[in-house]
Amino acid sequence: MAQNHPLASPSTNSLHHKLLSLPIADKLHFDPESISAASVDYGFFVQEIPAAVLRPSCLEDIMTLVAFRNNESSIPFTISARGRGHSVRGQAMARDGVVVDMTSLGNKGHETTVSYSQSLGHYADVGGHEIWFNVLEHTLKHGLAPVTLTDYQYATVGGTLSNAGIGGEAFRNGPQITNVHEMDVITGTGDFLTCSPHKNPDLFYSVLGGLGQFGIITRARIALRPAPKRAKWVRLLYSDFSAFTTDQERLISRHQRDQDEALDFVEGCLLMHRNMDTWVSFFPLSDRPRVMSLLTEHKLLYCIKAAKYYDEQTESTVEKDLEIILKDLNHVPEFKFEKDVAFIDFLNRIRVAELRLREQGLWNIPHPWLDLFVPKSRMADINTGIFKDIALKNNITTGCVLIYPMNKNKWDDRMSAVTPDEDIFYTVEFLHTSGFGDWQECELQNKEMLSFLKDNGIKFKRYLPNYRTEREWMEHFGPKWRTFQGSKAKFDPKLLLSPGQRIFNHS
Ligand code: FAD
Repeated sequence: MAQNHPLASPSTNSLHHKLLSLPIADKLHFDPESISAASVDYGFFVQEIPAAVLRPSCLEDIMTLVAFRNNESSIPFTISARGRGHSVRGQAMARDGVVVDMTSLGNKGHETTVSYSQSLGHYADVGGHEIWFNVLEHTLKHGLAPVTLTDYQYATVGGTLSNAGIGGEAFRNGPQITNVHEMDVITGTGDFLTCSPHKNPDLFYSVLGGLGQFGIITRARIALRPAPKRAKWVRLLYSDFSAFTTDQERLISRHQRDQDEALDFVEGCLLMHRNMDTWVSFFPLSDRPRVMSLLTEHKLLYCIKAAKYYDEQTESTVEKDLEIILKDLNHVPEFKFEKDVAFIDFLNRIRVAELRLREQGLWNIPHPWLDLFVPKSRMADINTGIFKDIALKNNITTGCVLIYPMNKNKWDDRMSAVTPDEDIFYTVEFLHTSGFGDWQECELQNKEMLSFLKDNGIKFKRYLPNYRTEREWMEHFGPKWRTFQGSKAKFDPKLLLSPGQRIFNHS
């Protein structure tokens, strides 16, 4: 018999009784273990206790729950789809509500299928619960891969499409949300709708980057491309920030990226002594002493991480192409490093780190991340005010610090995702890890950084945003707020979905 979580609120008891009368009762879980698992996320510093966890085995189970909440339940409760819980600030949680564990859909009747049409080219139909790695493994059997992949392939399709899905390929191919042709969505009103740019377009554009507010994505039709076989993986070191950003922008410029022989992946990161464990392993053992002495001399270094993919047809020309692309860049002379790896190993690079950290007990620990989009014109201020005057001085930054530019014209402004108002903007991500006793210190530093941005009038946007008041959300969405609100009123008027985002539920 169901056993309640010790921290469950009294109102959840009456909800339990009602839920147990549903035909999905055997798929609803109330035991402490299920409740605890749905009460934490990758951030490990926010906790919200749900009343129950639904482990659906088919889409009808989710529809039954949403219909019950809409039509029969006298107790109002919220519903949150949960992919892998890779959010860091409770975005997939539902206090006193029901968390839908999407991963329990597994592969039962929702296998990825690969197809071709004249108008779309190759595409795949994938479950919203599916992790991208499974999608990739499936498409690779057809010699194909999703057009844009994130840096980490173990988040779910529904989870990344609710945000944007970014990485080093986005400068050229756009974020994942711009490579979707069609979706099936269970809306907050309980309707099961197919949407695309031509069918229910308002739902389509709202859901993409919509932070789970309008519906649960159960299927996405995603664009595919021919999969390369291998990658030339390069790192270039800079001591001069302006040279670093100038070269990054050059590498993502129109001229460079529209050519077949252009780079496929461009990112960058900050090298500090404190976060050495996140970058040092790339460099050959024999080169590490000179990298370390360059770092000691400058205290901060900037690193361009780039990749050029190739296959049998381009194997003989890839080196020459790479040489041309990287010619005349202004990195520190002799500080260019190159590896040649299988395409799948390149995509799985973070998984390798994850498995190592799991073994050391360092994966399920607090991650007080701060993810920003910053207009290109203010990056010099970010270097001085944030990298040097905050991160370096405070000396608490651990984890990877990513810095890379994207082209705004590769995004689609009809979608809910928001970006700064400049042709080129940078992703700046502080992917902190901390101990259970000191995540607050990182949060204080995050606040200090946000204050710096505001005090200096830098018109940034947060990626994977987290705000507490309506006013802040209005500022975040800017001119898109009205549409966002209108779509909420249309597709989820009872404010059931993804309450952990705290957009319409502020308590
Ligand atoms: P969850 O955290 O479970 O959910 C996130 C939000 O989406 C919640 O509001 C939830 O209710 C909603 N949601 C979940 N599933 C659905 C669905 N099917 N339909 C509608 N709404 C849904 N992001 C990038 O863009 N690029 C990266 O390279 C990247 N790397 C990462 C690496 C790591 C190690 C981690 C932990 C995260 C990374 N992220 C990255 C962030 C990740 O994309 C987000 O956390 C995202 O939310 C996906 O995680 P998830 O599938 O676990 O979703």
